Amino acid sequence: MPTTTAPTTTPILRGGEWLLQAADADHVFTPERLTEEHRLIGRTAQEFVDNEVLPALDQLEQKDWNLARTLVRRGADLGLLGVDVPEAYGGLALDKITSLVVSEKLARSASFGATFGAHANLTVVPIVLFGTEAQKKQYLPKLLSGELIGAYGLSESGSGSDALGARTRATRQADGSYLLNGEKMWITNGGFADLFVVFAKVDGEHFTAFLVERGFGVKSGKEEHKMGLHGSSTTPLIFQDVKVPAENVLGEVGKGHKVAFNVLNFARFKLGAMCGGGAQGAIAEAAKYAGTRRQFGQPIASFGAIKHKIGEMVVRQYAVESLLYRTAGLVDAQIASTPHDANDGSAALAAFEEYAVESSIAKVLGSEALNYVLDENIQIHGGNGYVKDYPAERHFRDARVNRIFEGTNEINRLLIPGMLVRRAVKGDLALIPAAKALQEELLGPPSFPEPDDAVLADERRAIDAFKKTALMVLGLGMQTFGQKLTDEQEVLMHAADILIDVFAAESAVLRAAAASAQTHPRAALQVDAARVFVNDAAMRIEASARQALAATVDGDTLRTMLAALRRLIKVTPINTAALRRRLADETVSRGAYPFA
Ligand SMILES: Cc1cc2nc3c(=O)[nH]c(=O)nc-3n(C[C@H](O)[C@H](O)[C@H](O)COP(=O)(O)OP(=O)(O)OC[C@H]3O[C@@H](n4cnc5c(N)ncnc54)[C@H](O)[C@@H]3O)c2cc1C
Repeated sequence: MPTTTAPTTTPILRGGEWLLQAADADHVFTPERLTEEHRLIGRTAQEFVDNEVLPALDQLEQKDWNLARTLVRRGADLGLLGVDVPEAYGGLALDKITSLVVSEKLARSASFGATFGAHANLTVVPIVLFGTEAQKKQYLPKLLSGELIGAYGLSESGSGSDALGARTRATRQADGSYLLNGEKMWITNGGFADLFVVFAKVDGEHFTAFLVERGFGVKSGKEEHKMGLHGSSTTPLIFQDVKVPAENVLGEVGKGHKVAFNVLNFARFKLGAMCGGGAQGAIAEAAKYAGTRRQFGQPIASFGAIKHKIGEMVVRQYAVESLLYRTAGLVDAQIASTPHDANDGSAALAAFEEYAVESSIAKVLGSEALNYVLDENIQIHGGNGYVKDYPAERHFRDARVNRIFEGTNEINRLLIPGMLVRRAVKGDLALIPAAKALQEELLGPPSFPEPDDAVLADERRAIDAFKKTALMVLGLGMQTFGQKLTDEQEVLMHAADILIDVFAAESAVLRAAAASAQTHPRAALQVDAARVFVNDAAMRIEASARQALAATVDGDTLRTMLAALRRLIKVTPINTAALRRRLADETVSRGAYPFA
């Protein structure tokens, strides 16, 4: 398969810079800009899931791990495993937009998606990014063919979010090898994987990643009895004097955090993509059911309450999808603009570090939008939603873990403003001068914008105000708490919610504007979705900002800040009921998410 590149023509916004500048719709990657090659690999993945994975789901849920292996091999035959891998090691070296498309499609089977993700994203990718030439040659071809199955052993019973608190020990031996002792918890593919990326502390101190073959002596504990994902293996891993050769250190001794955190940046982005794919499938289920289920002599899809739910599902998914494709476009553009050897993962590594904030946003909003969609899907199914005859309850149970793994949503929320503030303090992001300029602007006389009847002009103005609100909250937080801002988690959570809404709302508006400019067939519906998202984001942002400001300052300062906030957020509510109805009607008549 030929190599593809993202057709974005820069200037490339650096990570987080969207907060400080207006973006141009022409420079944003959107699903409408997918190439024929992207669509082709998407169709391949979709047909694989429809024809081979979904029919096997019940058997996978019976813990038939041989079948899971066979399916990974089938995915390998179709080229789905090698998307992120250089050609020299048997991969396809495709762009990250392709990665996103494949992840979206595979998500229709959440259990197999987890198996695939632990293998392709959490085992293959760390080796591509950090492996030595010998490690890449030894392991990648076998992982890409599905001959070896991978797993990622970071978490322990006492250290999940606090991953660096791991107690698994690697004791250096006289011959240079290491003896691993300890236990990992909740490891996806743990019951049948052959190769593990394992994190342990060398001599109890230096956090380090290792490539550990099962044959070295790794034992699996019992399968966990989980709420969902019954078709994916989750077990503890037990290490008792497991001897690992010196050449199986992945990265450097004492630099395991680099492996763990960088891999997570990419994995979070892909998890967001999987959540988006899951939401598309569930929206189709909800629409089909609502179109056929009759009560009071009419399809339930004719009731406004149901239209609201379906319309809102579409709006949230539209925003998630818009920010995912925008981020993938940025990552690809950054990689393309960095001179690098095709076999060297360092450009991809740097790009995912650059867009770590955006990846965390994709993970948090993707998983929470999916949760909303699946919860309302059950509600639309009524009693049928609560019983196993319909897939709605399985999807709901399967998806809950998305808010827990790959960094809980709380940890990711802390990271979003935390990383921006760190970049600002280092001088990598001009957030501090922007916050000061905003302070001066707010002390000056109010400005009255020129009337503008361009499409989405009001929404663009609203987004400008949202960005200023985020700057006000972050700037005041930094000024008031200084370095102790990290202790003010409630303020940071509100700041994260605002930042998530800013990036999502802007991504949705830019995509809808681009679709309008290109007179895309469903551009008007895209504009509807973007307008609803911005309208509701205004209310959420105002509420979050009020809470954050009141937790930061009091008295006259608080009153002044609240007056400034009122001046900033002057969004006139629109009739979202009418817009959601249009979105819902189109979704029901197509029996599918309308922008797929
Ligand atoms: C099905 C499944 C598959 C998994 N697969 C893998 C895998 O393949 N490999 C792997 O290594 N791990 C895996 N995990 C583990 C997963 O990554 C962890 O469960 C997750 O990181 C959370 O850690 P924890 O469970 O210890 O929760 P804790 O860290 O104990 O968190 C409990 C709660 O406290 C909050 N919290 C924790 N610290 C803070 C803080 N500093 N500030 C604010 N709030 C905080 C959390 O957000 C959460 O709400 C899997 C888990 C599950 C359930």
